[in-house]
Amino acid sequence: MRIIDVHTHPIFFNDGRRETEVEALVAHGRALGIERMISLGDVLRYGPRPDAPHLRKLNDESARLQRLHPDYFVGFCYLNPRLGERAVMAEAERCVTKHGFKGIKLEIANNASDPCMKHVMKAARTFGLVVLQHSWSSTNFGPGMQDHSDPDDTARLARQNPEVNIIMAHLVGIGFRGVLAAKGLPNLYVDTSGGFPEEGLVEYAVEHLGADHVLYGSDLPIRECSAKIGSILGARISEAAKTRILHTNTAQLLGLN
Ligand SMILES: [Zn+2]
Repeated sequence: MRIIDVHTHPIFFNDGRRETEVEALVAHGRALGIERMISLGDVLRYGPRPDAPHLRKLNDESARLQRLHPDYFVGFCYLNPRLGERAVMAEAERCVTKHGFKGIKLEIANNASDPCMKHVMKAARTFGLVVLQHSWSSTNFGPGMQDHSDPDDTARLARQNPEVNIIMAHLVGIGFRGVLAAKGLPNLYVDTSGGFPEEGLVEYAVEHLGADHVLYGSDLPIRECSAKIGSILGARISEAAKTRILHTNTAQLLGLN
């Protein structure tokens, strides 16, 4: 089974780890059938709203992984939309022209429904990038969680920007109502990361979104790749659907061969 993991955070360069540990991670991934990992960076190291120098540092770490294993890691450009249009466009351009990154990663600097997202959409359109948005169902949120985009927020962003391909992260976090929020939007995809696998959720996503709109993602290292792969291999869906989720969809979306 060929696999691409669309949601990983290989974190190596902050705590004195060595490049040999990168080799070990690649070997571990390959043993599971993962032939490529999308590297989203150490996104919360400097808090939820990193400044421009911190973003450059984190993105350069993803680029370093890519340089070590150009056939394995694919970088996404981590951005803080609150820094404004100039900063967003400059860092996206740097990541594309210098590092060849394929997408944009957004965490919890702001909510996906905030006006500052228009700069990110401009960057995505200008440089042809896919946008992976942290998303989680706000049903059980207390106060102070407004920057965690609810699936309704991410779906609205996709609806308002039909020319930008958006990945709503965390199938387990968005849950059944998140799947329904994402339904019927051709430019919106859901990745399988977030939490332990939950009975019936992959089947529900395939039923409502189609197998071509679900992407395997683990959220390594806070989640274990094999558990997420198992949740797809063990789902009551067709073999063709499993192949699409584990490999084909992400390969096509990012133009990987
Ligand atoms: Zn993540």
